[in-house]
Amino acid sequence: MSNAAQYDTLIKGGYVIDGTGASRVSADVAIDDDRIVAVGDLGQASAGRVIDASNRIVAPGFIDVHTHDDRALLANPSMDMKVSQGVTTVVVGNCGISLAPLVAEAPPPPLDLIGAKGAYRYQTFDEFLCDVEAAPAAVNAGFLVGHSTLRVATMDSLDRAASAREIKAMRAMLEEGLCAGAIGFSTGLFYKPSIMAPTEEVVAIAAALEAHGARYVTHMRDEGDHVIRSLDETFRIGREARSPVVVSHHKVQGKQNVGRSKETLAHFDKHIGGHDHHGIAFDVYPYMASSTVLKEDSIRVSKRVLVTWSKARPELAGRELVGNRRRAGLRHLRGGGAIAARGSGLFRHGRRGRTAHPLASKRHVRL
Ligand SMILES: [Zn+2]
Repeated sequence: MSNAAQYDTLIKGGYVIDGTGASRVSADVAIDDDRIVAVGDLGQASAGRVIDASNRIVAPGFIDVHTHDDRALLANPSMDMKVSQGVTTVVVGNCGISLAPLVAEAPPPPLDLIGAKGAYRYQTFDEFLCDVEAAPAAVNAGFLVGHSTLRVATMDSLDRAASAREIKAMRAMLEEGLCAGAIGFSTGLFYKPSIMAPTEEVVAIAAALEAHGARYVTHMRDEGDHVIRSLDETFRIGREARSPVVVSHHKVQGKQNVGRSKETLAHFDKHIGGHDHHGIAFDVYPYMASSTVLKEDSIRVSKRVLVTWSKARPELAGRELVGNRRRAGLRHLRGGGAIAARGSGLFRHGRRGRTAHPLASKRHVRL
């Protein structure tokens, strides 16, 4: 009698890293009906499809918790740039910018990072999700509703706090997004469209989260000299909105702040240990650089700056801002933002300063 099992798929001979933090083990993995049904030495088993994974890692799909893939899900549903890295789930709508709900011809920066002309065409979040569902991408996705997107959709000028009527409208839009399936609300208080939004405005909109068990996710107002103040603002928003918070891409920005993650991580620990919150988490970059719109203050405190694209100065794409170019870049930014008007850069902050914390590595590793 043979006890050799028969499976749909057998992944043989790989090193299994199961995502629990356990050490890697050499094992086979059997799959039936899209489910893992056995892990171990399955040398006697056979399968409709056998994948030789010798000298390779076999792991669960990675969750990329911080992305701006809202439009990519529609425009590039094969999501090769993620799948090829082992990413099988993305969270979109971070940093206050989500593709919906907003109809706009020329959205202001940083909204134009995820889509320019014609991309912002969804009056409601549900319309956007219907489009995503009509042509599903190769990855799973979780969706956040962006505060800056709501502000652009609601307010005639962004250089002020929202009125009570506008807050009510934005809260209703967030509510619609949550009912449609969004998992949270993101802000980018660092960015121009939301920089004038007081804490109270965010709390009032975020009040819609609790009933849905949804979370508040933030690119904080200040990730540099005043990072502790911004952490306190974030914790307060979570406390008053009675919702869990996630601090996005936690870092201490700027050459002068290298090493201050000791201080910020201790601050996290102090609050996580307290009882006045509804959950606190953060994610980190796996590298010592960051990427965002070109802003004078960011350039000033960064060790190296690489321009990824610029509509006003396309010849700078792919080039570092050094020497005369750096001085000229700063001059442009001061003189009305010729580069910053439509541009994106990669900033390197220093040689040291990577964030290491059990919360960051266990729950929110990006890659
Ligand atoms: Zn961000």
